[in-house]
Amino acid sequence: MGVIRQFQCPSCKETWEICVGHGMKHGVLGRVMGEFPENTRQKIAEDVQGGDLPLFHFQYQAVSCGHCRDVVAIPVLRLLDSGRLYVGKCPECGGEAEPAAEDSPIACPKCGILLDVRDTGHWD
Ligand SMILES: [Zn+2]
Ligand SMILES: [Zn+2]
Repeated sequence: MGVIRQFQCPSCKETWEICVGHGMKHGVLGRVMGEFPENTRQKIAEDVQGGDLPLFHFQYQAVSCGHCRDVVAIPVLRLLDSGRLYVGKCPECGGEAEPAAEDSPIACPKCGILLDVRDTGHWD
């Protein structure tokens, strides 16, 4: 079950509410692949070729996008057999985003101060 997470900047008071974690449908790799663009899907398919039931870890992670200066959720897939990591692009601007380590704090994209985090509900 995914979590609705609210990020608030203690300085500029800007607030973001985004969905992180994963939903029910993301238990199947085929569905997870739908969260990625076509060229990434091809790479994932090549990566798992020959594997009967590839093991993976998928979730949406919060990222402070340095391009559009927004806090967004991007899809992150780790294939456990190859150890490869596939990271989606920023849904707002399509820019490359660098996910922080899981549950590590993220900084306000406007003033760089660490954001306060609060879980406000669940999705899926
Ligand atoms: Zn701020
Ligand atoms: Zn962006």
